[in-house]
Amino acid sequence: MAEQAVLADPNAPWGERMGTPDRVIVGIFVGIPFVAVIASIVVLWGWGVTWRDLVIGAVMYVVTGHGITIGYHRLFTHKSFKANRPLKIGLAVAGTMAIEGDVMTWAADHRRHHQYSDQPGDPHSPWRFGRSVPALVKGMVWAHVGWTFNNEKTNQQRYVPDLLADRDLQRVAAWQPAIVLFSLLAPAVVGGLWGAGAWDGGAAWSAFFWAGLVRIGLLHHVTWSINSICHLAGSHPFRSRDRSGNVWWLAPISGGESWHNLHHADPTSARHGALRGQIDSSARLIWLFERLGWAHDVRWPNEQRLAARKAT
Ligand SMILES: [Zn+2]
Ligand SMILES: [Zn+2]
Repeated sequence: MAEQAVLADPNAPWGERMGTPDRVIVGIFVGIPFVAVIASIVVLWGWGVTWRDLVIGAVMYVVTGHGITIGYHRLFTHKSFKANRPLKIGLAVAGTMAIEGDVMTWAADHRRHHQYSDQPGDPHSPWRFGRSVPALVKGMVWAHVGWTFNNEKTNQQRYVPDLLADRDLQRVAAWQPAIVLFSLLAPAVVGGLWGAGAWDGGAAWSAFFWAGLVRIGLLHHVTWSINSICHLAGSHPFRSRDRSGNVWWLAPISGGESWHNLHHADPTSARHGALRGQIDSSARLIWLFERLGWAHDVRWPNEQRLAARKAT
């Protein structure tokens, strides 16, 4: 358990401090999938990968990735639409399966990121250490993954009182260990049972590796690329008070989150890729949920809002 810090100021952006056991847990869940991604390159040249692993991995990537982008980010952090209860719970579970922490922790860090974006107080700005090349290299590593080990946690009472008060989200957070285990083991079970009349242990291991570990590692690094790459590079068609940029090549694999310049210019918009031709699968799915009657009060961008935010 994290040691409790006595807060002199209840409105401080940071909350309790992260203890060593918590950092070890972060290290395991950040490190092992990442090692798997690196190892996968070696393995690929050695034994290859089956198409079943790729299908299971792709399905898991799409479900968990959109759990983060639609659920954790656009719904719970920014309230860019309202969801009915089954959709809300489904998105919270899908996001938890991405193994990026519970929704309260994620949303608290992210609301703080928007409040202080690229200023002191931002939990993960690549500009933290200065503008020289060595400072930016250090800042990139920090913004990408280093910050996840920071012992200065975000004050949840200040940033996410609405989420803390939601009993469904509390319940999903309490089930986090089981949901994480499911996210890791479900691919193995599907892989082991797929096609064969009997249990195939080799196929189960293969699916566990590719659709479990490698898929989680890839999604982690795509999510973190929004914090690192999209605050350092990209185009700036809209006015925002930070360094957020649009990075087109990350859009298909990040569920449209890399249209990050528009997102900082208009954070509650349900669609980040708001310009013609900008791929945003998360916005497409929200549109579908709206059609199905599962989502309502969606904050779609309109011409006036976009025009008002255009860079001059
Ligand atoms: Zn940002
Ligand atoms: Zn955001």
